Amino acid sequence: MPITVVGSIAYDSVKTPFGERERMLGGAAVHFALAASFFDEVHVVGPVGADFAEQDLEAMRKRGVDVSDVERVAGGSTFFWRGEYGWDLNTRETLETRLGVFEEFKPKLSERSRASELLFLANIQPDLQREVRAQLPHARFVALDSMNLWIEIARDSLLRAIAEVDCVVLNDAELRQLTGKPNLLSAAREVLSWKPSETALRGPSVIVAKQGEYGASLITRERFFALPAYPLETVIDPTGAGDTFAGGLVGYIAANRARGLSDELLRRAMAHATVLASFNVEEFGTERVQRLAREEIVARLRELRAMTHFSGAP
Ligand code: AMP
Repeated sequence: MPITVVGSIAYDSVKTPFGERERMLGGAAVHFALAASFFDEVHVVGPVGADFAEQDLEAMRKRGVDVSDVERVAGGSTFFWRGEYGWDLNTRETLETRLGVFEEFKPKLSERSRASELLFLANIQPDLQREVRAQLPHARFVALDSMNLWIEIARDSLLRAIAEVDCVVLNDAELRQLTGKPNLLSAAREVLSWKPSETALRGPSVIVAKQGEYGASLITRERFFALPAYPLETVIDPTGAGDTFAGGLVGYIAANRARGLSDELLRRAMAHATVLASFNVEEFGTERVQRLAREEIVARLRELRAMTHFSGAP
């Protein structure tokens, strides 16, 4: 089932203890799309500036991603983010964020992007996420990611956006910040109680809490599931790991949802998400995922399953 994604399409300047890159291809929607393209058809929606290189669009096309709804704004500048990581790669400092063409962006989705049954609202201003959500009223599965900046400066809009989706994917610290609850389970339960209106039947039913190198947890009204991150000795740059994780998660759901959104499906989607994210952090930006092969994903899935399986009576 096709997936539409809206979110940042960016140039990132990143410094980690292991090196640095200036203006490399990045953005939440880009990392998501590259990962999800291993599973299903992906349509990317968002603007870029006059400075966006053709070869960076080509990097997405090469993975089969439809970029016809990527709008090039004459004279505009592409979203730019600069960040730095210390030895603890779980925390980073944002040094600069320039919205550029996103400041004036009014999403106009083509019929093809509106026809998708799955929608991912990747990290960007929550007003924009809501505008895109409104253009896919019949989407069958909608997931959303966000970050501390929007929790701080656009909280009301973000709360409204969250109430209109099925699945919320956030870092554990962001879930705590969003709800004001220090306990992860209570924070997730709080989000599970949000609805677009008092009488509405639907609100989020799946919460995914990303916990960096410690893995990720899945919380629904009935169940809890968690996986560790795939253990790696070399981590170079975690930028985009969260979006790549989301691409694996939503991509797997898109490709397998026809059989229903069962607990088992969600668990397998968590495993695929974990494996995709593990490749992302091995090199800077999108470098590793751009030349990833399907067989590598399958091999790591087998290893992850062996590592997390146990048997015997309690
Ligand atoms: P992640 O490491 O998965 O949280 O995502 C990193 C990506 O998010 C980078 O490629 C940035 O371009 C993008 N990003 C950083 N800040 C923002 C923001 N305020 N809004 C949207 N995207 C952002």
